[in-house]
Amino acid sequence: MTLLETRSLFRNLSPGPGGYSLKTRLYSIIAFLGLLPVLGVALALLAVELSRRDDAALDRVARGTINLERVNGLVYAVVMESRGIYMSADWGAAEPFANNLVRQLGELQDVARAWKADAIASQQSNIEDLAERIDQFVRFRTELVRLGKEESTTAARAFGDNDANRSVRTALNNNLHTVAHAYEQEIAKARTRVEADERYFLAILSAVALLGAAALGGGLLFVKTALLAPVLRMRDSMLHLAQGELDFAMDGRQRAREFAEMAKAVEVFHTTLVDRQKLNREARLLSDLNEWLQSCNTLGELYQMVAEFLGRLLPGCAGSLYIYANSRDVLESAKAWNGGKMTPAMHPDDCWGLRRGRPYAFGETEIDFRCSHLDPSVESEYCCIPILAHGETIGLLHLEFASENGEPRKEAIAEQRRLGLVCAEQISLAIANVKLRDQLRDQSIRDVLTGLFNRRYMLETCRREFSRAARAGQHISILSIDVDHFKKYNDNHGHDAGDMVLRAVGNCLESLFRNEDIPCRFGGEEFVVILPGADADAAARRAEQLRSKVEDIVVRYLEKNLPRITVSIGVAVFPDAGDNPQAVLKAADQALYRAKEKGRNRVELSATVAIVSDAPTVKPAPMHRASAPRFQGPAEEADQPAFSLADAC
Ligand code: GH3
Ligand code: MG
Ligand code: MG
Repeated sequence: MTLLETRSLFRNLSPGPGGYSLKTRLYSIIAFLGLLPVLGVALALLAVELSRRDDAALDRVARGTINLERVNGLVYAVVMESRGIYMSADWGAAEPFANNLVRQLGELQDVARAWKADAIASQQSNIEDLAERIDQFVRFRTELVRLGKEESTTAARAFGDNDANRSVRTALNNNLHTVAHAYEQEIAKARTRVEADERYFLAILSAVALLGAAALGGGLLFVKTALLAPVLRMRDSMLHLAQGELDFAMDGRQRAREFAEMAKAVEVFHTTLVDRQKLNREARLLSDLNEWLQSCNTLGELYQMVAEFLGRLLPGCAGSLYIYANSRDVLESAKAWNGGKMTPAMHPDDCWGLRRGRPYAFGETEIDFRCSHLDPSVESEYCCIPILAHGETIGLLHLEFASENGEPRKEAIAEQRRLGLVCAEQISLAIANVKLRDQLRDQSIRDVLTGLFNRRYMLETCRREFSRAARAGQHISILSIDVDHFKKYNDNHGHDAGDMVLRAVGNCLESLFRNEDIPCRFGGEEFVVILPGADADAAARRAEQLRSKVEDIVVRYLEKNLPRITVSIGVAVFPDAGDNPQAVLKAADQALYRAKEKGRNRVELSATVAIVSDAPTVKPAPMHRASAPRFQGPAEEADQPAFSLADAC
């Protein structure tokens, strides 16, 4: 993931559910919990005020009741003192009663005044009526005392003990009764109010307590779900990351935006690490593949390695590798793996990848066409990746992707395709390298004109084969071959014609000798054939076959046949001619020159070869010379050749 992608990911980060940040929600809860005590104090003050108001109302009602009791008591006392006056014979006996009565009347008036001033609003008129009655009662009893003092107790009795007196008292009693009843009701009302206030206060206190409990519960829940749980989840995720365990799922569903951001950051970190791990694994795999491919010596080995490597790297993917035939008109199946089809040969036009010159992925886009090199029954997605080397298409990597329960796994397929593409590059390079190496080796060991091994290779092989034959106690024969009068071809027909003759002789050598025999072009128009395991007889027979076959070669040049080609051949055998390549090559050389001397177009055995009784007879060659060519046994050696094979060693 690039820095730019990471940045845009964070820019697009949506807030958590509810859209409130963690800070806002935390502050809201703290503010609410802080407001609860303030609300409690306000409610307590309200309750105190209510209770004070209720107490004051109750006090006033209670004071009214006390006043009522006192008025009742004083009225009763006044009535009793009045009776004392009635029953006294004279003023002297009545005076103490009269004094008490006057004092009690004064007290009665005081109580009535005080009560009037402290009366509750609803009883104000009742109290005023009562005060009026008390005043009337006081005036009547004051008159009674005056009569008793100034006239006689009898006059006082006559004044007081009659219906007028009784009506005043009855009216007062009625008023007192009314007030008493009213005050009873006021007391009941005040008590009801106190009880209602108490219930109200209790309800409010309960509500506040419930609210507090709910806020506490909500706060704890918030701390648990919005703070503790995400923090713990985050800690787990980060521990996984720190321990390098990337095989875990990140939980991005965080309630708070801050945690969602942190989770997203850890997720990005996680994805980056997973990507990096994947890239590291890929780089390691590719470097492994590269190393293995580079160590391949042959194309066959390389194809085998590609099959095994891709078979394991892309286990659910059948594959096959096609390589252009030398003719370049078809591609041949080089290798297949994981059940890939080995179509013997396919035409380049059968593949859209090859036709368009770039990788073709079938099933990737909505409109696509199947390549005709595929079996029409195959419905799976596939890709064809042309393999290029040095700008030239050298083959095709074909990968078929397995589907899971009939459903292609898009992501997995894309990943496999990507890996396939990267591997194809490595494979292309490796094939190009091996081909180049083959080419270079061919150039270093092959002769460009004839395609035969060159002198350097011949000498190396000689040394190797001689030591092997020495160990195994076997023979090795050497044929030293020279084209007769070759200079004439050049002189008479030109160098091109000469080259054609040399190529024709090379082909003849190539086709005549077995796999283990090694025909080489020694230089110019001279050739050498190494025949491991061949003794003098076998070598002489093969030499004669060669001589005869060369004689039959017809080379056409510029629409006409060139003159017949002949070769002279000298044969020497290891170990008869010597225990080292130099000696044997020298002996073969000497035999060759003897053949030249003796008229050319013939085979001569080296003087070092022991004469065998059943030496093969050679058919006369149809040449223009007097004596027929034949095997020449060892005789006096001819002159030394101008160029010696032995010298080359
Ligand atoms: P002889 O029968 O005694 O071997 O006679 P010759 O003419 O074959 O031998 P000579 O050594 O006189 O001539 C060899 C010629 O081969 C000389 C040289 O120009 C020619 N020659 C050497 N290499 C090549 C080559 O690669 N191509 C061509 N066309 N000619 C070559
Ligand atoms: Mg020569
Ligand atoms: Mg020659």
